[in-house]
Amino acid sequence: MAIHINPQREDSTMTQSYVIIGDGVAGSSAAERLREEAPGADITIVTDEGEALYNRILIKEYAKGKLPEAPISIHDESWYSERDIDLRMNTLVVNVDVHGHTIETHDGQTLGWDKLLIATGGTPAQLPVENADADGIHHFWTFQDARAIKSHIEKAEQSVIVGAGLLGIDLAATTAAQDVEGKYLMRGDCWWRYALSESGAEIIHDALRERDVTPVFQSGVDRFETDDTGAVEAAVDPNGDHYPADFVGIAIGLDFNTEILRDTPVKIEDGIVVDEYMRTDHQDIFAAGDITQFYDRLLGARGQNGAWGSAKEQGAIAAQNMVEYESEPFEWVSSYSITHFDFPFLSFGHPTRGDDSAEAKYSETEWRRLAFKDGQIIGGVLIGDLSPQSKYKTLIREQRVVADQKEILMKQEFELDELEAAGTTVE
Ligand SMILES: Cc1cc2nc3c(=O)[nH]c(=O)nc-3n(C[C@H](O)[C@H](O)[C@H](O)COP(=O)(O)OP(=O)(O)OC[C@H]3O[C@@H](n4cnc5c(N)ncnc54)[C@H](O)[C@@H]3O)c2cc1C
Repeated sequence: MAIHINPQREDSTMTQSYVIIGDGVAGSSAAERLREEAPGADITIVTDEGEALYNRILIKEYAKGKLPEAPISIHDESWYSERDIDLRMNTLVVNVDVHGHTIETHDGQTLGWDKLLIATGGTPAQLPVENADADGIHHFWTFQDARAIKSHIEKAEQSVIVGAGLLGIDLAATTAAQDVEGKYLMRGDCWWRYALSESGAEIIHDALRERDVTPVFQSGVDRFETDDTGAVEAAVDPNGDHYPADFVGIAIGLDFNTEILRDTPVKIEDGIVVDEYMRTDHQDIFAAGDITQFYDRLLGARGQNGAWGSAKEQGAIAAQNMVEYESEPFEWVSSYSITHFDFPFLSFGHPTRGDDSAEAKYSETEWRRLAFKDGQIIGGVLIGDLSPQSKYKTLIREQRVVADQKEILMKQEFELDELEAAGTTVE
């Protein structure tokens, strides 16, 4: 195995100590880039999980019963030792001391750092309702969660899923794959209502119904009912309707793991605020991955991505800038695909934001929507045909003003040349 190392780097960054909190894809890719760019540096990764980096995207395939455990692991411990990276598993960081340049762990250890990367992601949010912690109610973030979901769903008879977003649909697809009939309780009129309209979401609803998962609209959960052993028996929605279930999956978003920064000057606003170089308000503290509220140069505003590719890139960019001040900005169009159905699905950029939109339905399984801000495409959703994605992403990267060209943009097939005359780049 060849490990790339930058032989040119001879300055003090070579001998600094870098500590990374979190061994998700952001933390791990940061460590890899750090080792390349700072061959002599001390690099430590601290994670509270009991296993090294695994593919969080694939744990749903494991829960569905479609994949065994082995291919989900990405790095084993030797990956770290070969790179002289000190991996500390089962270690929860409980505090960051900015003045002392140290972190403290749950077992009383103190570790010093010259530069610190926070890549701690989020923890699934709890539903603030009665019995939300009953047995049989699951959240979905770690491999351990996937193992618990798999072993329970294999014996379950009826499910309720809550959370009409990208993770909720993973839970719904998991129950469907294990042949468990389900009710998918949604607050509005359609799945992922901030990114899709009813017309587009109907394709998803039909695909769910075909798999015995019934969407229930204008619903949600008011409380859960339990049996004598404390196991969940039913969800009761705000309309008073009862939905019997011995398996419940909840995916209503993430609470970001920022608690360890409570005594620091680092700015927290539903995540850690960083600039395009992944720098926080403290010059030696960086952040990367799901946890960041980063300055998105393409959006011209603060953005947050909950996607694997983006977290990986942010980790690498953060590392680059930790070694060399302001050396590389993060500029990225995020993508997130769903592969549960017979048709492909992709969301890209920031599909839930913007001041304008355009959508079109081409067939029973083909639909598209674009979100615009100040005349530029900033994101979208493609169902059925993903082929235009690279053209849309090019327009995002070029920051072209094209909202007045919707007819061309929404043609089932179009060429970028068709837009050239009218679309101008924003200065
Ligand atoms: C079921 C599922 C399906 C997904 N599917 C897709 C998909 O199809 N496409 C896509 O793009 N994205 C998908 N995602 C999202 C994607 O996995 C995340 O965006 C990505 O993993 C975020 O990486 P991260 O490194 O920022 O955070 P994380 O992967 O959450 O890693 C953070 C790590 O930090 C650890 N940690 C937190 N606090 C501490 C502490 N105080 N001390 C020590 N360690 C700590 C956590 O335990 C965790 O290991 C999916 C996620 C899930 C859960």
